[in-house]
Amino acid sequence: MSKYLVEKYRKLKPYTPGEQPKNKVLTKLNTNESPYPPGPATIAALHAGQAADLRLYSDPDSAALKEALADLYKVQKNHVFVANGSDDILNFAFMAFAGEGGKVYFPEISYGFYEVFADLYGCDFVKVPLQADFSINPTDYVCKDGMIVIANPNAPTGQALSLQQVEEIVRTNLESVVLIDEAYVDFGAESAVELIHKYENLLVVQTFSKSRSMAGARLGFAMAQTGLISDLEKIKFSTNPYNVNRLTSAAGVAALSENSYYMENCRRIIETRTETKDRLTALGFAVVPSKANFLFAKSPDIPGAVLYEALRERGILVRHFDKAVIDQYNRITIGTREEMQQFLSAVEEILREYK
Ligand SMILES: *Cc1c(COP(=O)(O)O)cnc(C)c1O
Repeated sequence: MSKYLVEKYRKLKPYTPGEQPKNKVLTKLNTNESPYPPGPATIAALHAGQAADLRLYSDPDSAALKEALADLYKVQKNHVFVANGSDDILNFAFMAFAGEGGKVYFPEISYGFYEVFADLYGCDFVKVPLQADFSINPTDYVCKDGMIVIANPNAPTGQALSLQQVEEIVRTNLESVVLIDEAYVDFGAESAVELIHKYENLLVVQTFSKSRSMAGARLGFAMAQTGLISDLEKIKFSTNPYNVNRLTSAAGVAALSENSYYMENCRRIIETRTETKDRLTALGFAVVPSKANFLFAKSPDIPGAVLYEALRERGILVRHFDKAVIDQYNRITIGTREEMQQFLSAVEEILREYK
């Protein structure tokens, strides 16, 4: 830290991303990426002509991308916002709808970035505990006095609220923005997108990072009525109008043209998730019911951190959070069937050796 850093940022604790190993690992199940490559149309969209056009700025309105998203989600183009990953949108939303001293509610166990943004902007935030089974109690978010941010499905637990439960939260907080972060919605949860037509305070955020195999392209989108969307546009045009680059934009439009390819991958991941869950349960693990592309699981026979390290030594990366309520658990991204086979064989071996 230099002496020049502004006082209020001195205590900021930045988000810690999951490890992106430099050396080849056998099996990378730690950051919820897709195990499948982008589809053929998506890859073809990144052709030489696109590259030559990099001398030109990207379209600051991202019109083609917004139109393709509007088509797919049956909303109007001016109900769509796009940005450099959904983290970019979360950043704008905390800035726009909470800000300094603004009240914000989010689950105590959830995506770690919410607290980082709340800290960054000096929000007055409340971390609402989960229930004993790690589910979110929607009643805890009824009639609050500030912005509400909920990942649905939640991370790192994988549990999801029903559409009806989400609606209750939105309907009873009309004076505040309710942000539903649907990063994992394509893996089996109910989306709240249809509710945007009914509620002007609802902001639904999604990403191409997980279900559409494009984590490295950085592309997130949000859907809401024009009021919230124009507020986000205002912040975007006051910070970085070209936040979605040409290559990403082209890949995004192409990805939506082959949406069934990605939804088929999601179906395979759901199938592999069920198989993995059954195998872990048979090995004695407690596995949280998941509607996401990961499982959150603990073994009664081995501490969470020990299992994490033993897997790592075998070239298998999962995610362990060193946080009291959840430190016996590991979050395991669902890879291909072969990767999950390797993971499960390693777990069996580790359990045998540990006993
Ligand atoms: C991965 C993730 C994000 C970030 O997604 P990007 O679009 O890659 O920035 C946001 N929210 C949750 C809950 C996530 O798990």
